[in-house]
Amino acid sequence: MKIAILGGGISGVALARLCAADGHAVTVLEQGERPGGLCKSRRYGEFTFDEAGGHIVFSKDKKVLDWQLARCGGDAGTVRTVRNTKIRWKDRWVPYPFENGVGHLTKDAIVDCMAGYIEAYATRRAGVPCPTNFGDWIDWRMGAGFARHFMVPYNEKIWKCDLRTMASDWVAGRVPEAPIEDIVKSAIGIDTEGYGHQSVFWFPKHGGFETMVRGTVEGGGFRLQCGITVERVERQGTGFRVNGEAFDLVVNTVPLPRIESAFAEIPADIRQDIRALRPISLINLMIGVKLSEPLPPLSWIYLPFPEQGPTNRVTYFSNYSPHNAPAGHGSFLAEVTHRGELKPDAAWVRSVIGALGTAGILHPEHVVLAEWCNNEFAYIYQDLAFKDRISRVRKWFDASGYLTFGRFGRYEYHNSDQCVQRAMQVHEHIRTVARDGTPKPLQLP
Ligand SMILES: Cc1cc2nc3c(=O)[nH]c(=O)nc-3n(C[C@H](O)[C@H](O)[C@H](O)COP(=O)(O)OP(=O)(O)OC[C@H]3O[C@@H](n4cnc5c(N)ncnc54)[C@H](O)[C@@H]3O)c2cc1C
Repeated sequence: MKIAILGGGISGVALARLCAADGHAVTVLEQGERPGGLCKSRRYGEFTFDEAGGHIVFSKDKKVLDWQLARCGGDAGTVRTVRNTKIRWKDRWVPYPFENGVGHLTKDAIVDCMAGYIEAYATRRAGVPCPTNFGDWIDWRMGAGFARHFMVPYNEKIWKCDLRTMASDWVAGRVPEAPIEDIVKSAIGIDTEGYGHQSVFWFPKHGGFETMVRGTVEGGGFRLQCGITVERVERQGTGFRVNGEAFDLVVNTVPLPRIESAFAEIPADIRQDIRALRPISLINLMIGVKLSEPLPPLSWIYLPFPEQGPTNRVTYFSNYSPHNAPAGHGSFLAEVTHRGELKPDAAWVRSVIGALGTAGILHPEHVVLAEWCNNEFAYIYQDLAFKDRISRVRKWFDASGYLTFGRFGRYEYHNSDQCVQRAMQVHEHIRTVARDGTPKPLQLP
């Protein structure tokens, strides 16, 4: 078959590689000057940075993890790290997840957190159902103390909204519940580990996270066309046309609001649903520093409080690979989410760095490089209407003969490993279409 894949992020190139290996003639159409999307990295002198905040290679799925590591050059091409993440809580370093670090708070805060947690635990035991909005879910699940001391300020910083306007179902499966014994142990000073699925992660030695994309494209056996904006997708007979070229199958991975106007036949109500899918955007500040001593062995840290500046997370990026920064230097990624327009200027950059200095993360006078990158589509804003809206959109696409997947191509809150997993599932679907010779509705688990 002749297959068009719209968008050359990891979703698009992973699927292209899999389909090309079956002998299909695959073309990836990518708007940017090179593939990678959110997985891109860039260089400034001897510094390498990821463009969309700190990315790590990990997966709960062994097959996917092995596939990703192979694309990064395997053991020889990657650095393996034991995760060490903390919350900068006032002047303390509290281990993450927060419930497992509660013993590191002040005594007053420990009492607040534990009293609230016990109350919430009893409420849940009494059968009070899981609230449908995120704000109430935090209270229901963690209690008022954990909410006040971390969950609410941190999440308000990321999502920039009243948390009661957000749905809770996306987080319910994402945040594993710590056993109550662990929380009590932690409160009295016995360290507990917390959930383990990211306890070890990998990162490419050279070239940043984008190395995984390059390793997917190289030898992939497909045609990659960069600098191409997909402007017109239409049906023709039993096939399709993309920007005027004929294909047997079209797979979209481009963020839906960016591509909706190109699809000629989307019904008006589905268009309206797509236009209402709002992203949360991300400014990623890439900071290089001169070091008088090595950086602490941290992976990343969370900054929940407004007085720490607008940054919600800082990645200790030169700890991921020694090649991310030149000798005698270190590097950080500071993530700042926003809605709509935010155009950083020199004063804004200085103020963010100043706040990181006040929070004890870095010495502003040691900064030798500060650049930023805006990512319009970074996080999925899941308001209370999101679930119904996206299920109507997916249903239309899945029955249409067009396929759509990817973080914003399907609006699934997926990391790159889950994008690869989806690519594998879509690949299986395409195999059955090719074998039977008839299009069929896409069914994803
Ligand atoms: C802050 C942050 C941290 C993350 N951390 C991790 C992590 O630690 N580990 C991990 O595995 N994942 C992580 N992720 C998730 C990961 O970045 C995404 O899951 C993945 O990159 C999504 O890939 P994609 O191909 O689906 O989408 P994208 O990367 O968005 O690709 C879409 C592509 O479509 C192109 N495009 C747009 N419009 C058009 C058009 N009209 N025509 C043609 N092409 C077009 C874009 O240029 C882009 O290349 C993180 C994401 C964020 C935001």
